[in-house]
Amino acid sequence: MTAHLASPTGAPFFHYQAGQLQAEGVSLAELGQELGTPLYVYSRGALAAALASYQEACVGHNVLVCFGMKANSNLAVLKEFARLGSGFDIVSGGELARVLAAGADPAKVVFSGVGKQAWEMQAALKVGVKCFNVESLPEITRLSEVAVALGKIASVSLRVNPDVDAKTHPYISTGLKENKFGIAIEEAPHAYTLAASLPGLSVVGVDCHIGSQITEVSPYLDALDKLLKLIDQLKTAGITLKHLDLGGGLGIRYDDETPLAPKVLLDKVFAQLQARGYGHLQLVLEPGRSLVGNAGVLLTTVQYLKHTEARNFAIVDAAMNDLMRPALYEAWHGVLPVAPRATESTLYDVVGPVCESADWLARARQLALAEGDLLAIESAGAYGFVMAGNYNSRPRPAEIMVDGDQFHVIRQRETFADLIRGESCLPD
Ligand SMILES: *Cc1c(COP(=O)(O)O)cnc(C)c1O
Repeated sequence: MTAHLASPTGAPFFHYQAGQLQAEGVSLAELGQELGTPLYVYSRGALAAALASYQEACVGHNVLVCFGMKANSNLAVLKEFARLGSGFDIVSGGELARVLAAGADPAKVVFSGVGKQAWEMQAALKVGVKCFNVESLPEITRLSEVAVALGKIASVSLRVNPDVDAKTHPYISTGLKENKFGIAIEEAPHAYTLAASLPGLSVVGVDCHIGSQITEVSPYLDALDKLLKLIDQLKTAGITLKHLDLGGGLGIRYDDETPLAPKVLLDKVFAQLQARGYGHLQLVLEPGRSLVGNAGVLLTTVQYLKHTEARNFAIVDAAMNDLMRPALYEAWHGVLPVAPRATESTLYDVVGPVCESADWLARARQLALAEGDLLAIESAGAYGFVMAGNYNSRPRPAEIMVDGDQFHVIRQRETFADLIRGESCLPD
């Protein structure tokens, strides 16, 4: 059981009691029985604790934490973070609609993304978002035109690409020269001059987002150093900024990673800002994964145990369409039996029923299993449900929020009617 004690999802929010895995005060076995599987289960306490770890690290400093909501955009999650004072980092008009539906304050919303369309800019200008994180020269021009047509001024921050190696998976590394994101830092002064000259824009900040699942301080400090040099340069050119946005990207523990605590990173960032004479700048952060990743599990039921010459497979009722990270990034997720067995364990690949060899959730795990057993796939609170789809005509799972000894269905399981909604056949 030591593996369970050391699990990333971790006590006190997910823990064993009398040989049964619980989320806070709720038995996962009972949840699975009552609501069926696959099922996403989040802990309200874990969400609040993760946000508090940022807020406590920022006491005495001017910081706006904007939840990178693409990691988990359920309305209940958004509303909880809004209530606790968080802002939001959005990347689409759809995400804007969600934060508004959750009652969030648009003045705490930053709008990121490389491909904002005019309608998305209009919607964000109408509600008055804090700023647009602009990623290219043509976007600067378009945003100004859209703002002028609406009789508005768009606050802008330029997302610069500092060309630092975040030392993470290539698919989630975003701050290298060859990535599609941001404006190359050498071109940034020119881009700022352009932005400052346009009638529809007010230049307010600078931002970067160098990647995800980052576990080291140095990439952030390298990026910060480059941003501060740019700010120095802009000051000489008469452009002054109000905020500096370091993006998100802090890693979590999936397996044996040592995650970087927000305080460890932020103490260094605040010290740098002070030392370089920018203590007055507002710091904006856009954490996604680190606020929600270990606040959720994906519950699934073992359907079949299939023993072949080469491998043993535990075929479960969750699949790559429900949790895409293993298929997409070869991501590692912990697998916990909800009611561990004392019987001998075997090496299993935990796989779904979808017709793709990429449809696996975990490989080579030592597990003692029987048909019908419930498993909790750990660290599924970030980039889990949001990436779910309907491949193989599989309805997306329900989402549950546990709160103490209560639970709430925060999204119903999709039905067959949901699957074909909007489809129609050709006329006879
Ligand atoms: C995805 C994203 C985030 C959140 O990243 P995490 O690694 O989940 O913290 C923040 N900012 C931007 C611009 C993003 O695209």
